[in-house]
Amino acid sequence: MPTETFEFQVEARQLLQLMIHSVYSNKDVFLRELVSNASDALDKLRLAALRDDSLDADVSDLHIELEIDGDARTLTVRDNGIGMSYDEVGQLIGTIANSGTAEFLRELREAQDAAGTEGLIGQFGVGFYSAFMVADEVTVLTRRAGEEQGTRWSSRGEGTYTLERVDGAPQGTSVTLHLKPADPDNQLHDYTSVWKIKEIVKRYSDFITWPVRLVGERGEDGGAAEPETLNSMKALWARSPEEVSEDEYHELYKHISHDWRDPLQTIRMRAEGTFEYQALLFLPAHAPHDLFTRDFKRGVQLYVKRVFIMDDCEALLPPYLRFVKGVVDAQDLSLNVSREILQQDRHIRMMQRRLTKKVLSSVKSMMTEAPERYATFWREFGTVLKEGLVTDSDNRDAVLAVASFATTHGDGESVTLKQYVERMRDGQDAVYYLTGESRESIDSSPHMEAFRERGIEVLLLTDPVDEVWVDAVGEYEGKPLRSIAKGEIDLGAQGDEKAGEDREKQAEEYAGLLGWMREQLDEDVKEVRLSTRLTVSPACLVADAHDLTPALESMYRAMGQEVPRTRRILELNADHALVKALNQAYREREDRSELTGTAELLHALAVVAEGGRPKDPARFVQLLADRLERTL
Ligand code: ADP
Repeated sequence: MPTETFEFQVEARQLLQLMIHSVYSNKDVFLRELVSNASDALDKLRLAALRDDSLDADVSDLHIELEIDGDARTLTVRDNGIGMSYDEVGQLIGTIANSGTAEFLRELREAQDAAGTEGLIGQFGVGFYSAFMVADEVTVLTRRAGEEQGTRWSSRGEGTYTLERVDGAPQGTSVTLHLKPADPDNQLHDYTSVWKIKEIVKRYSDFITWPVRLVGERGEDGGAAEPETLNSMKALWARSPEEVSEDEYHELYKHISHDWRDPLQTIRMRAEGTFEYQALLFLPAHAPHDLFTRDFKRGVQLYVKRVFIMDDCEALLPPYLRFVKGVVDAQDLSLNVSREILQQDRHIRMMQRRLTKKVLSSVKSMMTEAPERYATFWREFGTVLKEGLVTDSDNRDAVLAVASFATTHGDGESVTLKQYVERMRDGQDAVYYLTGESRESIDSSPHMEAFRERGIEVLLLTDPVDEVWVDAVGEYEGKPLRSIAKGEIDLGAQGDEKAGEDREKQAEEYAGLLGWMREQLDEDVKEVRLSTRLTVSPACLVADAHDLTPALESMYRAMGQEVPRTRRILELNADHALVKALNQAYREREDRSELTGTAELLHALAVVAEGGRPKDPARFVQLLADRLERTL
């Protein structure tokens, strides 16, 4: 039958180049990847056979075989699982579907040094392609269960691969690696060594639930002639915790998550009683690139009595814990259970509640027991977890307890609400925060001035979700959460009568100007008033307590929702020379047409100060230039 030649997709070609030039120093992991794929293929076949009686497939002895040929220097990884059709081989092996890959390759080009590159590769896990770290040619022979004809795929990894239809292929997939020449200086990396292969399987794939057998011809160092099962096949979650090492857990994590790095935290749970299950969950150390995309795949697998049932089981954890990876093995579910049934099952809902609490309490312990790990966790996943403050009112307190925030106090450390309240100043009755786009822009915002002067701590919230949860949560231990850019803020005058009197006097002096300015700026502001929050800037903009913030307003617009434009409140600093002079001019002059421009300018300055853009930049420049000229 004819052999057809195809080109790899561009991204695939780039990844292959990396593998061939072997940026990853631990080459042993290629075998873990191939065994992992084979194990998945066996899981898939068992499920397919369970769902479809008429499927013409042999499921009587599902297993993985490893075969070494020392003379030919080949290593074959064979499974009798689901296999691939002709079209599937081209699609699955010739292209990279992962949406994060483009991003990954961009980062890779930017990371010049080898260490950076290796870290990035580890982040992605390149699966099948890792075979090209140790082989200069790879051949795949595969036949999809239920189909007659098989396919041979072959490539030297250099830009093209060939496909050929073949008769008589066994069910499943065998991947044959034509190993690179042995390095006489480094016997450790000779993959024709039986000892080496056994060691790798034991280390990386022991928990695989299918037998991994070593068969056929022996390597140079000999070995038993009978097929030998190399792995214990014991599900880690079913073994007693004392028996399992941290490394073993980590390898399971890598198998499930396709992440090549260690997880941050391993969480075990076992529920006895009427609805029995075991769970082994992992918190990854890094957020994947596609965490916020719609088709992000969750990482919790469902097993029923040790039998793999499904990947990406969304019923087991709420969306705000979608980054958690792991396995849940339930005793009393049907092997035929579907996603729809799971969504409605009462036991599954109970399970979800308990798993959620368990994950949150593990994070809580991490805060005290391993603060650095907690800091990593929160940096990577805090944004996602905060969605829970809005969507999961039952666990709101638990999520709040593990949340921490950037703050104006301390040296760049974040603070929990509990810590914030503990160090609140006497007489302070609210938790103050400011939302905005970046830490820099809000740290230097005029709204901050009076707080900085009085040494009052302000939380700096810069994630889009922050705009939403603060309203949903409302208060913490009886203390309202209050935006310093909203409503009236009174920090000074409590119990201070003199200040109160001064303020009344000022209000009288300024009443005319404020009313007049309000008319001049009618399109943009709904009120002009004197400020208690400014010490340095002449003016700032604030919102009413229940108004949308500018960020939220543009967020809704970006989502295509119609929202009315919110007019805000302009606050003036009566102690600022410019504002004083403006008031004087207002009171003295008959003709105020000249002052209108200054009022507009004052408003525009307030917009600029919070990182915004004047409504009419050209007019802003003209007004400003005109007034600057007069100072010369
Ligand atoms: P990943 O395993 O991360 O999806 P791979 O590059 O390792 O990426 O594999 C790509 C796809 O090829 C797999 O998702 C699977 O569909 C298919 N595949 C790989 N190995 C096998 C195998 N032994 N049997 C059946 N399908 C396989």
